[in-house]
Amino acid sequence: MKIYDSRLKETVEFEPLEEGKVKMYVCGPTVYDKAHLGHGRSAVSFDVVRRYFEYKYGEENVIFVSNYTDIDDKMINRAKEEGISVEELADKVIPIYERDYEALGVKKPNFQPKATKHVKEIIELIKDLEKGGFTYVLEDGVYYDVSKFPDYGKLSGQKLEDLKMGARIDVNDKKKNPYDFVLWKFKKEGEPAWESPWGEGRPGWHIECSAMTWKVFGEKFDIHGGGLDLKFPHHECEIAQSCGAFGKDSFAKYWMHNGFIQVNNEKMSKSLGNFFTLEDIFAKYDPQVVRFMFLQTHYRNPINFSDQLLEQAKAGLERIHGFVRRLEDYNSVSEMDPLRIEFGNEVNKSMDNDFDTSGALGTIFTVMNSINPLLDDRSVNFDKEFVLDQLKRLDNFFGFIYPREKFEISDDIESLISQREEARESKDFKKSDEIRDELLKRGIVLEDTANGTIWKKA
Ligand SMILES: [Zn+2]
Repeated sequence: MKIYDSRLKETVEFEPLEEGKVKMYVCGPTVYDKAHLGHGRSAVSFDVVRRYFEYKYGEENVIFVSNYTDIDDKMINRAKEEGISVEELADKVIPIYERDYEALGVKKPNFQPKATKHVKEIIELIKDLEKGGFTYVLEDGVYYDVSKFPDYGKLSGQKLEDLKMGARIDVNDKKKNPYDFVLWKFKKEGEPAWESPWGEGRPGWHIECSAMTWKVFGEKFDIHGGGLDLKFPHHECEIAQSCGAFGKDSFAKYWMHNGFIQVNNEKMSKSLGNFFTLEDIFAKYDPQVVRFMFLQTHYRNPINFSDQLLEQAKAGLERIHGFVRRLEDYNSVSEMDPLRIEFGNEVNKSMDNDFDTSGALGTIFTVMNSINPLLDDRSVNFDKEFVLDQLKRLDNFFGFIYPREKFEISDDIESLISQREEARESKDFKKSDEIRDELLKRGIVLEDTANGTIWKKA
């Protein structure tokens, strides 16, 4: 099968390090705020890649790892704003991601490490880099000296001398090069900190992924994925750290990046007011429609999000579900030999071509168009079980062919949730329990965490 390696910038034959086994790592979110559309797209893109590998090689032969960044500047600032600890913030936000990803049909990773639980490995890795002469210490932290790693910039196709300062690169006049990045930040007043050989502090953002892949996979693994926005500087820094510590040929063999989401042709941002959380969208559309919408476009292409796009996705998905229902209800009156319509291989061919879900869906719509007239004309006997069986198999990675239980959160339910919050706050537990039971009847389970209540599908 072919895979587009975004480091080589070409489509190559996928040959895992160990035949028939796949080890992949995808950068997870920084859990300081709710999941938005961009998180959803990345999660669904790599969920399909993972599930397709599982479908081909067997579930037991695929290891999928994705982390939670639960310590960084954004976490610290938000926790301060909310008057809670960084840990409490993570405990509040992680269940929201879990709920939204589950709603999108995203399978839980085999491992889901948190940065704060791997400080030991992070420190060990920085010690290795220090031994190799890649680091220097300034008054605010330990830095990576990028000039010691000549391949820096290769992934994102930039020359060291042309590199501009990118996102999340701190401006620090004392750095040897502007693109040097922090590995260990020294403690500031009121910040969470861990002991280290360089003094109390906390890990920089990039080092955690290098440490966690090392911890789970060792020095090499097959695929590293993430959103295109992470290619520079985050992934560039991960390579500099891991290959700095373990040698040139270590770390990921292939790199995959999913495309951006724009909203009405503009970058999605809070300041432009075109920012959507998954929760916002699930209030109007079934999460399965959202999954389908993402997969209509090849994972590497940009998606220009709009209500119209969701409406189209909704209509497309209804056609598929309608087709499945009609098939299930179909009874032929003919006694001729059953006609077998094979299309699974055609779908696999698209998927084998760098996970072309868009092409794969094209095949499904073509098949629907050719079978629908047969469903009208019951005098033709075609093998419906054969078609249903293929659809079921393909749904192992598509995850939208068979409808999931309808799931909508209506205004009514939202208002019940907030009424219950109020009841709890005023210690009216009888009323609070009544509302909880009422919600359960409507398929919503509430989970009370130390930092408030979140809802989940029953
Ligand atoms: Zn990462």
